[in-house]
Amino acid sequence: MGADDQSDYGPTWYSGVTPLPASRTPLNYDLDIDVCVVGGGLAGLTVAREVARRGWSVAVVEARRVAWAASGRNSGLVMPGFSAQIEKVVERIGLPAAKALWELSEAGVQYVRDTVAEIDVAGITEGKGWLDVSRKPDADGALARIGLLGQEMGVTVEGWPTERVRDVLKTSRYFEAIYFPDAFQINPLAYALGLADAAERAGARIFENTPALAVDPAGVRKRIETPNGRVRAGHVVLAGNIHLGAVAQQLADTLIPITAFTGVTQPLGRRLTAAITFHGAVSDSRRANVHYRIVGGDRLLWTGSASGRVRNLKGMRRRLERALCATYPRFGAVEFERFWPAEMGFAVHRMPQIGEVQPGVWLASAFGGQGLNTSAMAGDLIARALVGGDDSWRLFLPFELVWAGGRAGRMAIRTTAWWLHQSEALIRLAAQWRAELRRRRQRQKAERADTTSRSADQKVRTDKKVPRIPDTSRERDRPIGAPEATPTTALALVRRAGHALREGREKLLS
Ligand SMILES: Cc1cc2nc3c(=O)[nH]c(=O)nc-3n(C[C@H](O)[C@H](O)[C@H](O)COP(=O)(O)OP(=O)(O)OC[C@H]3O[C@@H](n4cnc5c(N)ncnc54)[C@H](O)[C@@H]3O)c2cc1C
Repeated sequence: MGADDQSDYGPTWYSGVTPLPASRTPLNYDLDIDVCVVGGGLAGLTVAREVARRGWSVAVVEARRVAWAASGRNSGLVMPGFSAQIEKVVERIGLPAAKALWELSEAGVQYVRDTVAEIDVAGITEGKGWLDVSRKPDADGALARIGLLGQEMGVTVEGWPTERVRDVLKTSRYFEAIYFPDAFQINPLAYALGLADAAERAGARIFENTPALAVDPAGVRKRIETPNGRVRAGHVVLAGNIHLGAVAQQLADTLIPITAFTGVTQPLGRRLTAAITFHGAVSDSRRANVHYRIVGGDRLLWTGSASGRVRNLKGMRRRLERALCATYPRFGAVEFERFWPAEMGFAVHRMPQIGEVQPGVWLASAFGGQGLNTSAMAGDLIARALVGGDDSWRLFLPFELVWAGGRAGRMAIRTTAWWLHQSEALIRLAAQWRAELRRRRQRQKAERADTTSRSADQKVRTDKKVPRIPDTSRERDRPIGAPEATPTTALALVRRAGHALREGREKLLS
């Protein structure tokens, strides 16, 4: 292990329990190849493995180490579905198409299961089953969900009444739950490292510490510049998540980065078994966006997010420790031995962005908080499309690329989104608000340009207000189904979001 390997993978629980390989050599020559994958997270590694397995030449260029980011730092829950609530997906594209997408997401779960078996590294699988619990009595809501998932979509789910939930999770905070018996949990870093090895065994080449500095997508052969070598490839797959940045700025601007935090407690011994006898994963994501599970025998791995501005890691750590203790008061004081942040990227519609964005340029992105199954699914879909011409990826076309607001817009959504739990209603409204902000900035820029072009001795009034009439001519700024943008303030946005949330919930339950 190199001296810096531990720090490459951060102070996570996983980096402490997983054997870390030495760095792979950076690219230091020119390469001609069928497919170049930018990004060595789970999405990029899966694409590479599947392309190589089908006999094409493929190389991954990774700016740092494979799986150093979200892919090696997440909570490890492998479950079907997407970051977007399935009810919202049905609302948008109808039941048959939503069902087809759900089946693809299940195929992603199966891909991970098969790959874990194939790479045969001990200790990757860590638990089985997933309980999605409610923090409010909501039997009707649970029944509606089970009806949709179980009956309409044929998913294997069970509804657990409050007593059964509290039998295994001894807290008065929880009520009904939906149980997914086929979900399971993994050590994501061990999985990703095993996946990288499997990709190489299949023939893929992986270059670490090799940032793609520029991608020239024009022409039949795409050119990817790295510090010490150039790749020429028939196809390029952009799998850089929120880290892609300037390499493809317009695509990067379609993502909202969100930071989540994970802590692993000290050994809790009998305190843990007295409170939790469920050995799968638990989410109360629909209300509080918390996921947890037992690791290392008697520790709790707890992931949560910030509600409001995150000032410092220490404060966030204390906040999560308090949330844990409030859920399970019988633990008494609990401290995290390990604590780390990680970032995920969401599209405005919270669905993955998968597909060919221009001839020969593919995107595998926006897996949000549910990327283990969906990145596997995306990798397989893209490889099948590239090598076999399979166009199943087109099922994702209704979830097109929507501009997510540039830096200012994304800051705004980061500070408000968690508070209202990132409902799609909020995100839609926020998108309109950001679009309006952008228009305002453009108008201001145009006005400034106009002002400076006037003669220097002319007295210029500078207190002119920006007109508050929305410019609706740029329809492409508007996400599908969103009403016309109206100017609004952050406060009005939040109020309207609350209203939209209530309306949405009522609609769902009616
Ligand atoms: C705290 C947390 C908990 C989560 N829990 C779960 C969970 O329990 N279950 C689940 O399913 N999902 C979970 N997720 C989501 C999941 O981890 C992600 O969706 C998934 O890992 C994204 O994979 P990726 O390959 O798209 O991106 P990343 O893992 O971010 O990888 C992108 C890679 O691309 C590289 N890159 C970017 N730009 C360039 C460039 N120009 N040149 C070269 N390389 C570049 C980066 O260095 C990086 O290594 C969680 C996420 C977080 C943050």
